[in-house]
Amino acid sequence: MESAPRFLCDVMLARLARYLRAAGLDTTLAIESATDAEILREAIDEGRWLLTADRKITEHKAAKGRVIQLPFGSLDLQAAVLSGQFDIDWLSHAFTRCLMDNTPLQPATPEHALRVPEDARQPKRELLVCSACNRVYWRGSHYKRMRKKLESWQENPAAMATIELL
Ligand SMILES: [Zn+2]
Repeated sequence: MESAPRFLCDVMLARLARYLRAAGLDTTLAIESATDAEILREAIDEGRWLLTADRKITEHKAAKGRVIQLPFGSLDLQAAVLSGQFDIDWLSHAFTRCLMDNTPLQPATPEHALRVPEDARQPKRELLVCSACNRVYWRGSHYKRMRKKLESWQENPAAMATIELL
C-alpha cells in the first residue's frame, strides 16, 4: 500500500489510531506532552496527515494542507470523514500492523505460539508477532469485533455518517 495516506493522530484520537493500524495504515500517535507546534513539525517531517479533534491546531500557520479536523467521539463518523477525504481501503491490508506501536507484524515462530492461550492455538490459525513489543496476535473475538467495524466502513461509509449525525 505504497500510496496509502500516513497519519499522525493527536491524543484525543487514540482509539481511531488503533483502528487505522488495524486497517494496516501507517499511523503514529502524538505524545501527550507535545505542543501543537511540535506535533505539526512531526507531521511535516514524517510526511503524515495530522488528524486532530482540536480546532485550535487547525488555525496554526503550518497546518494548511496538513491537518484534518475530525469530530470527537464517534469512531464511525471519524471513519466516514476520512473515507470522504482519502481513497481508504479498510480491508485489503487489515491486521498487518501492531495496534499498540504501529510496527508491521511478522509470522510468529513456534516459541511465540506457546505464549498464546491454548484455545487460540489451533493448527491452521495464523499467528503474527510484533518485533517491537513482542505481542502475539491471533484472530480471536477481539479481532472479529474490529474486523466487523472495518467491514462496515468499507461497505458504506457515507450511510454510516448519516446515521451518526441524526
Ligand atoms: Zn507492538
